[in-house]
Amino acid sequence: MDCIFCDIIAGNIPSNPVYQDEDVIAINDINPQAPVHRLVIPKKHFADVTEIERAEDGALLAKLFATASRLGRQSGGGFRLVVNTGAEGGQTVDHAHIHVLSGRFMEWPPG
Ligand code: AMP
Ligand code: ZN
Repeated sequence: MDCIFCDIIAGNIPSNPVYQDEDVIAINDINPQAPVHRLVIPKKHFADVTEIERAEDGALLAKLFATASRLGRQSGGGFRLVVNTGAEGGQTVDHAHIHVLSGRFMEWPPG
């Protein structure tokens, strides 16, 4: 399968993880939309968050959310978690991930 995040997880593409354990990896976004922009990614391939939900892997969903919360908290200020889902939802990489954005004021509503 052609998946850039699977390639990063496999080590085929070098990355500098800010966190990882047996289930999740967190990396800096290559095209940051805020001073701090991290991606929390399950190591197992799921096309999007609904695939994890349909697999009823609540433990993985909880771990992804908790990891994103912790990274946001560690950034020191307020932060925003984003899960773009499907092309209409703005998803461009078809491997589930949570964006962690911080370091600037987050306007609402988003574009
Ligand atoms: P999304 O549009 O929600 O699917 O987000 C995908 C994110 O992955 C975008 O913010 C991209 O900048 C980011 N991205 C794509 N390729 C890489 C890469 N090789 N390393 C880090 N981030 C990446
Ligand atoms: Zn993948």
